[in-house]
Amino acid sequence: MHEALARDRGEAEQDVFLAFVSRNGIGNSRAFAAWPPSPHGRGEANGNVEDADAKMPDGRRNRREFLGTAIASAAAAAVFPAPAIAQGAGPNIVVVGGGFAGASCARALKQTDSRLAVTLVEANKTFVACPLSNAVIAGLRDFKLQQFGYDKLAALGVSLAFAAATAFDPHARTVTLADGSMRSYDRLVLAPGIDLRWNALPGYDEGASVQIPHAWKDGEQILLLRKQLEAMPDGGVVVLSAPVNPARCPPAPYERACLIAHYLKIHKPRAKVILLDAKDTFSMQRLFQNAWKELYAGRLEWVALSSGGNVTSVEVKTRTLVTDFDRFTADVANVIPPQRAGRVADLAGVADRTGWCPVDPMTFESKLQRRIHVIGDAAIAGAMPKSASAANAEAKLCAAAIIKLLNGEPSPAPVLLSTCYSLIAPDYAISINGTYRPADDQFVEVAGAGGTSPIDAPRSVRAREAAASEGWFDAVTREIYG
Ligand SMILES: Cc1cc2nc3c(=O)[nH]c(=O)nc-3n(C[C@H](O)[C@H](O)[C@H](O)COP(=O)(O)OP(=O)(O)OC[C@H]3O[C@@H](n4cnc5c(N)ncnc54)[C@H](O)[C@@H]3O)c2cc1C
Repeated sequence: MHEALARDRGEAEQDVFLAFVSRNGIGNSRAFAAWPPSPHGRGEANGNVEDADAKMPDGRRNRREFLGTAIASAAAAAVFPAPAIAQGAGPNIVVVGGGFAGASCARALKQTDSRLAVTLVEANKTFVACPLSNAVIAGLRDFKLQQFGYDKLAALGVSLAFAAATAFDPHARTVTLADGSMRSYDRLVLAPGIDLRWNALPGYDEGASVQIPHAWKDGEQILLLRKQLEAMPDGGVVVLSAPVNPARCPPAPYERACLIAHYLKIHKPRAKVILLDAKDTFSMQRLFQNAWKELYAGRLEWVALSSGGNVTSVEVKTRTLVTDFDRFTADVANVIPPQRAGRVADLAGVADRTGWCPVDPMTFESKLQRRIHVIGDAAIAGAMPKSASAANAEAKLCAAAIIKLLNGEPSPAPVLLSTCYSLIAPDYAISINGTYRPADDQFVEVAGAGGTSPIDAPRSVRAREAAASEGWFDAVTREIYG
């Protein structure tokens, strides 16, 4: 059991992807054997097989109807501009967001068939990864290791557009960028990650985050929290707030509390950390709580929802977090507010009233807008967590599904895997993994095919998991950006 856990889960994850990928044609140079399509082909690339006015989701045609229409309308007007066909150019796929989901999808699309015209639209030239950023905050890791560029994607032939996407026209199938330019698409993939719900906790808005960082996205915020911890006097109090679900990386607030406690233990031994929680239960709870007792007794205090941990407002000037029952004034405060899909999801009309994006689990196509796919944290993916690992898996599934759709082929049922490590101390990590498949229009966890680190493992296993977490990060970022 321990040996199994000690295995590098990055490798295990890749095994599953490979199984998925080989079943679905990704990486198979014949995936586009029928493309550019023959005059009798059924692929989207062949003709305007989906009329732009068809309604979603209630008016959405099922696959049989869709294919029937596709065959019947094979002679309809071409989707692609005539010059593009004449040049043999492939369908245009625009991917918005170059994080774990978007960059991975762009890469998978281009690697599968170089004839696809793939454009990656990303607001920043450098991507800052969140996994392991809690170790940066605790002074255990160099910030530079979190940063990635897009040169290798460009070398593969992915076109890069460094500007924020600001407007969408799903009927004309265009995306407008902040620099005023426009991109047209045959399929659009949105991977914008999350946005924070400003003022969901009254008093905590974007302006407040300059004094009380969230450090939940964006590199500046990570560095700000780091600096504040360094400047805090010994004997000070750090107060963190953990949000309600759904949220990005459910175990990460608890990992952060641990690593801050580790930093205090070494550098400010009279200081402590209080974690205010909007929940009573959380991911890997017993593992975390055992580790708190073992490593951080008297230094890390968890206040659950039922004990008054739910933050109801924030007083920025005094760094006070007000809860249902109490007030907590901090030397360093870190508010992780409630979240929603990145703002572009609203602009493209793919977010529902929950603020997240409902998708077809077979293809990650939006249930609200045709030809737009949503992957990563922004998507509602059932039991799949909002993690980089899941985002990467969803990206590959989406790329495979888009290629199948372009060829007019059905997507086989996918099986996806997600693994998430949490560092408790530099040589101590725990993990959770799950296997997911579509059922009843949503991803459900496959019973017995996942789990967490064993409760009673020796420290040698925890140390091997700590090494494996870095191995996972290196493998996934190399695969996407390297
Ligand atoms: C502290 C912390 C620790 C974590 N640890 C782990 C871990 O150990 N393992 C794990 O698997 N996951 C972890 N995660 C979760 C992981 O970071 C996210 O799940 C993952 O980043 C989601 O990928 P994404 O592509 O959906 O979003 P992101 O990676 O955030 O990428 C979104 C991209 O879209 C871009 N973008 C947004 N809007 C626009 C626009 N309008 N135009 C152009 N570009 C745009 C952004 O600039 C960004 O580059 C952690 C998260 C946090 C906060």
